[in-house]
Amino acid sequence: MDVDFLKKLVEFETTAGNFREMSECVQLCRDELGKSGLKCAVSVKNGVPSLVCNVKNNSSELLLTGHLDVIEGKKGQFKPYVEGGKLFGRGAADMKGGCAVAVSVMKKLVEENRADNVGLVFTCDEETGGHSGMEYIASRIKTKFATTLEPQSNRDTSVIVKHKGLLWVKLVAEGKAAHGSKPWLGENAAEKLIAALPKALSLASASKKPVWANTVNLGTINAGLSANRVPDEASATLDYRLVRDSDAGRIKKRLAKIRGVKATVIQESRMLGTDSRNHFVKKFAKVASSVWGRKIGVANETYFTDVRWFCEKKVPAIVFGPYGENIHADDEWVDLSSCGKVEEAYLKFAELF
Ligand SMILES: [Zn+2]
Repeated sequence: MDVDFLKKLVEFETTAGNFREMSECVQLCRDELGKSGLKCAVSVKNGVPSLVCNVKNNSSELLLTGHLDVIEGKKGQFKPYVEGGKLFGRGAADMKGGCAVAVSVMKKLVEENRADNVGLVFTCDEETGGHSGMEYIASRIKTKFATTLEPQSNRDTSVIVKHKGLLWVKLVAEGKAAHGSKPWLGENAAEKLIAALPKALSLASASKKPVWANTVNLGTINAGLSANRVPDEASATLDYRLVRDSDAGRIKKRLAKIRGVKATVIQESRMLGTDSRNHFVKKFAKVASSVWGRKIGVANETYFTDVRWFCEKKVPAIVFGPYGENIHADDEWVDLSSCGKVEEAYLKFAELF
């Protein structure tokens, strides 16, 4: 992988809504891939650019995917630097590191004259739901196997075949405002919400330890304007992470039955659920094991990625990218030696196509 190219990617502030930086970052990738003679197209939906490279007649046997958007960072995080084998910067791990690896893989495949059946897609709205990027692209491109080079968040590299689905819900309680000294004249919305919350939270595991089960996080809670006023509105947002797609419907029905609050779905997304016995998955694990010199198995993850859009189209898909830490935090970094290994694994895996 070309470290200088990765540094250039990190320098773009490709945060939500920053369409100019996104376009320039996409253009840099297009130019880099174009130097190898690869044909790339940029499509724009709702202002969000996506790059589609080496995909002929809307089809490619193997598709490497990634996202170039990042979450907000401090100014200094857009000035990448290398220290102790790690490249630091916003998006270094999530996931410009993986994108730089994918570009390098494509270039080497061209050099070895075996890029014909491998395509690449980069989008710019993964962090905000992927609707204008990968959802749109996955509805148009056919592929036999899709991967995303999202980072591995622990050093024990694995092939991720499943990740959780999500259901974000807003609960709103309504009441009647009154003076705080005469609460009997009002109807307290905050109290209604507080009474409803334990029921909503009981619909998923309350485990404080890592579990492969449905979980819920009470993310926000808002009510009231002052101590001396009965609040007439209160709201909370809940983040359910689900291990079965069918549970979303069950949870929504149960939420609708909770008295005193109205539940509205803000965001909903299916899980990644690739069969670990799929022959491409098995081959990938075998190839990765040969590169790492130890057994690389399959695993599940809690976060969600854009590759789930392919899973919805019944395309087997995995997550496999370089190791990095402090994702979405300060001091985000990607391990450069793992970038090299991931690249080697993809180059070997591409022999299948
Ligand atoms: Zn990501």
